[in-house]
Amino acid sequence: MEERNMKFGTKVIHAGVHPDEATGAIMTPIYQTSTYVQPEVGVHKGYEYSRTLNPTRHALEKNLAAIENGAFGACFGSGMAAIDCVLKMLNPGDEVVSTNDLYGGTYRIFKTIFEKYGIKFHFIGMQDAATIENYMNENTKLIWVETPTNPMMNIIDIVATAKIAKKYNAMLAVDNTFATPYLQNPLDLGADIVMHSVTKYLGGHSDVVMGALVCKDEKIAAEMYRIQNSCGAVTAPMDSFLVLRGIKTLHIRMQRHCENGEKVAKFLASHPRVDKVYWPGFTTHANHEIAKSQMRGFGGMISFTFKGNDINDALETVKKVKIFALAESLGGVESLIGHPATMTHASIPKVEREKSGVVDSLVRLSVGIEDADDLIADLEQALNA
Ligand SMILES: *Cc1c(COP(=O)(O)O)cnc(C)c1O
Repeated sequence: MEERNMKFGTKVIHAGVHPDEATGAIMTPIYQTSTYVQPEVGVHKGYEYSRTLNPTRHALEKNLAAIENGAFGACFGSGMAAIDCVLKMLNPGDEVVSTNDLYGGTYRIFKTIFEKYGIKFHFIGMQDAATIENYMNENTKLIWVETPTNPMMNIIDIVATAKIAKKYNAMLAVDNTFATPYLQNPLDLGADIVMHSVTKYLGGHSDVVMGALVCKDEKIAAEMYRIQNSCGAVTAPMDSFLVLRGIKTLHIRMQRHCENGEKVAKFLASHPRVDKVYWPGFTTHANHEIAKSQMRGFGGMISFTFKGNDINDALETVKKVKIFALAESLGGVESLIGHPATMTHASIPKVEREKSGVVDSLVRLSVGIEDADDLIADLEQALNA
């Protein structure tokens, strides 16, 4: 069966991989090698040097391209290295229009690394896609979107944003880390590049740091691979193997993340101490209709605030939980809890972060795939203590 005709649950397991030709090993071997013997000058089997290409990484890159309905995949040493690659496609004088509510590290690399190379950034609210157009001009080369956003779970209309990008000849890149290709495929909605922190749901087991890009366009792919090879922020064979293994269960993990996410979100919404619950599955969510149109489920990421917005309520809760672990990151099988204002978003100035809703009492949950009853009981004892 051709890969592009496979359904998602088949693709995650079979796309890009095949039994090892030398031994029949069903699992892609960890090709722990830096170089490849050439029978004569200029003759090789597609692999010359492992920065350029390694067979284990190659299998993963093909798998990622397939599950995002793209044509070309590239893996990087971290999500940040993948973002770095996209920004390196730009030139001094170029402008970028970016979501204002985004992963703290993305804001940091834009502001403190690429701004000094002469790239101008506009950080704006994108909940109404039409406002993006106010910031577009002939220098705009990239629109950077994260949806759902971190940690406010805002939803940005990918189809509408892609139309604006096309009109101005700019690329649209979507950080699809929170949704994963199980829930959302930005390339099908008109995006040019999909970015992932593979560290999160794709890896899924909190044991690897990795990033990835997927695209369809050959010209963008050529730039992507040129930068990947030139700058060298590639991923190791062992890590590629672990992620290939993680992805095989992406569909069933995501299904459970969504189910547990819904149960936890509803529990929080009913709790007397909780003020707002941010989860795109609620019909009361500002962009629920857009979420429904571009996502196949609403995921396991939830943020909430306390009535009175006291930082101590948030800090006590993250201390009192017993199953939820206090940690940065997300997307693993185990549930995590975090305090964005002092953790993931500490690098964003307080005024900036409060403008986007990251207030002092905001708590973020990455709901794992444990039994939902235990997760709710854990939150209940922490909130009622
Ligand atoms: C974690 C994360 C990143 C950065 O990825 P790393 O693998 O940590 O470098 C980027 N975007 C989002 C949405 C993330 O959650």
